[in-house]
Amino acid sequence: MKKYDERETLFSRLNLKKGTKEYVDFYQKNSEKQQVDDPLRRISFRHNLKKSDEFKKRFFPIIEHNKNYIKALFDLSSNYPLKEQVDLPNDFAKNIKEITKYYGATNVGIVKLDEFSFYSHLGGLSEAVGIDNYNQVVKPAYKTAVVFTVKMDLEMVNRAPHFEELLATEQAYLRVAEIGARVEMYLKSLGYASVSNNSEFYIAPMVPLAYEAGLGEIGMCNHLVTLEHGDNVRIGAVFTNLVVDYDQPIDFGLKEFCKKCALCMMNCPSKAITHKQRMVNGRQFYKFDENLCYEMWVKSGTDCGTCIQSCPFTQGVDLEKARKMKDHPELMEQIMEEHFEKHGRRKYTKTELDIVKCGDKFEKRN
Ligand code: SF4
Ligand code: SF4
Repeated sequence: MKKYDERETLFSRLNLKKGTKEYVDFYQKNSEKQQVDDPLRRISFRHNLKKSDEFKKRFFPIIEHNKNYIKALFDLSSNYPLKEQVDLPNDFAKNIKEITKYYGATNVGIVKLDEFSFYSHLGGLSEAVGIDNYNQVVKPAYKTAVVFTVKMDLEMVNRAPHFEELLATEQAYLRVAEIGARVEMYLKSLGYASVSNNSEFYIAPMVPLAYEAGLGEIGMCNHLVTLEHGDNVRIGAVFTNLVVDYDQPIDFGLKEFCKKCALCMMNCPSKAITHKQRMVNGRQFYKFDENLCYEMWVKSGTDCGTCIQSCPFTQGVDLEKARKMKDHPELMEQIMEEHFEKHGRRKYTKTELDIVKCGDKFEKRN
């Protein structure tokens, strides 16, 4: 087993400034990444959106302050005092899940943490919110993770890779931060040390945890794919010292289904997704070119999301069949047929939503 290292993630790498000690240290050890990272460095993909300045002036403010809002939530919950401890039975797990849903989560799982759940080092460098924890060693100081999903707006995601998709992503990240902050404060009120992960501050990668917590399986897109909403979800987690009943990973047959489907791979405009499997810490992922994916973000000016939109589970499948499809290829075929009948190879809605219409200057999709 090898610990995950946040400094190796694309966003951490792209935030490095050329010539700094951190930049030199990283690329001395990872020279193969320098050539592919440098052309993408510090390109803000959002500003490449092919829209008029008028559009950008009117709609960018919707998302511009989100990072600061998330940081404010993070500061609020991390400064929240730890209260006197209340004894809780193991089956209080059920209550924690319901409370997390009450705060807005779509689904929740609880999982035991071990030292390999955590990043070895942090790689956070965000000027926008004043975070610089680069090189900080992560102490695996918590026992349990409350992991949750937040569903993204499907109408918006079905407009991917256009601006609506970015609005959906940003909104889900905000909700993840809000729910995480509330769960963290709640657990501290019960006397258990806790910390929430959000898009500005992670101390562990979320997809493996969500898989371990039984929230879904890892699909060809390398995302968590849930039965009910596919990969149209964002993931959050609160780490705590409370110990309660844990969940287990689930296997609804996604590995075999992905072999038959491959729609995310076929629809990916940058060819970043492959069907080639790779094992990471005993979990099956797929080979993926994150730089090609990010190039597409830069081209589209959004975080694309075409793979999310393409997944049959995102669009909704017959759940009765899906729950029984493991080891039943005929059910998988039926699910695929039904998906093609309803949505074709890719569900894409061309018309703009009213929220992004530019007032008196209507712009056409390009
Ligand atoms: S976000 Fe777009 S470019 Fe990236 S993997 Fe998904 S479909 Fe491909
Ligand atoms: S689109 Fe198909 S291949 Fe890709 S993750 Fe979803 S089910 Fe698997």
